Amino acid sequence: MTKTKSQPKHGQGRNCVITRRACFSASHRYWLPELSSEENDKCFGKCALAPGHGHNYELIVSMKGRLNQDGMVLNLSEVKHAISQEVTNQLDFQFLNTTWSEFDVSKSQGCLPTTEALVRIIWKKLKPHIPIVSIRLYEQERLWADYCGNAMEAYLTIRKHFSAAHRLAREELSKKENDMIYGKCARTHGHGHNYFLDVTVKGSIDPRTGMICDLTALQELVEELVIEPFDHSFLNKDIPYFEDCVPTAENIALHISDRIKNPIKEIGATLHKIRLQESPNNAAEVYIENNSFNSKQNSSIEEIEKVNL
Ligand SMILES: [Zn+2]
Ligand SMILES: [Zn+2]
Repeated sequence: MTKTKSQPKHGQGRNCVITRRACFSASHRYWLPELSSEENDKCFGKCALAPGHGHNYELIVSMKGRLNQDGMVLNLSEVKHAISQEVTNQLDFQFLNTTWSEFDVSKSQGCLPTTEALVRIIWKKLKPHIPIVSIRLYEQERLWADYCGNAMEAYLTIRKHFSAAHRLAREELSKKENDMIYGKCARTHGHGHNYFLDVTVKGSIDPRTGMICDLTALQELVEELVIEPFDHSFLNKDIPYFEDCVPTAENIALHISDRIKNPIKEIGATLHKIRLQESPNNAAEVYIENNSFNSKQNSSIEEIEKVNL
């Protein structure tokens, strides 16, 4: 590319988003003093067990800004310092319930240190020091929360897995026509995939429980409505919807969103996104509603994006 005169030296003044990863290990316990032992057990299950349990947390901090004269949004050593000073040094190998005053449930304004509550407080701690635009916190590989600075609103994602077979072919077309469109995927007896399904819900963090919805209820409804019927099935024949709808990754993702959208409403959250990874090379994403999180979104009510890597 030819350098034009209007381009600033070293990219100075141009906008960019950068991310920094940091890890810490910490324990926590879900227990509210105003509830009886039975009620705590009922609400929080094993998470209510004394003295608590731990996770290896992974934090991804995204920051936005204009490049300086050195070609950087920020000097990474400053970022690293802010994150360790404000977050990891304070939380690593600690019992979260007794670290930050926000998690002191003996006070009426205290809330439980759930992933979504934690990511919000981390934002609060980091915001005065670095220009953050979003933060993701993994509690484990298959559970994470996102926060973008919007009051009590947070996003929670669970990852599920199922194995299923399918055949891509339209009944009304000839074998030759289907072969032309779908290639090997149109072969008569089908083929299979190990699917990874990410379900992202949006909701308001409860100021006391620290939760945007009942996680167990969310896990159970996805298990019951998607994983149980889909796992080890031949989608075209075992799932009635696909008798006359070709089960591409896009259609599977859309159908999953249709199945779980209302049940998620019933547990007090909003389905935000479905991501279905069909193979290491392709995935389909469905955005159920339009809002500011994730730059991949655009203006329509329901959008689908196929990612071919
Ligand atoms: Zn936990
Ligand atoms: Zn396939």
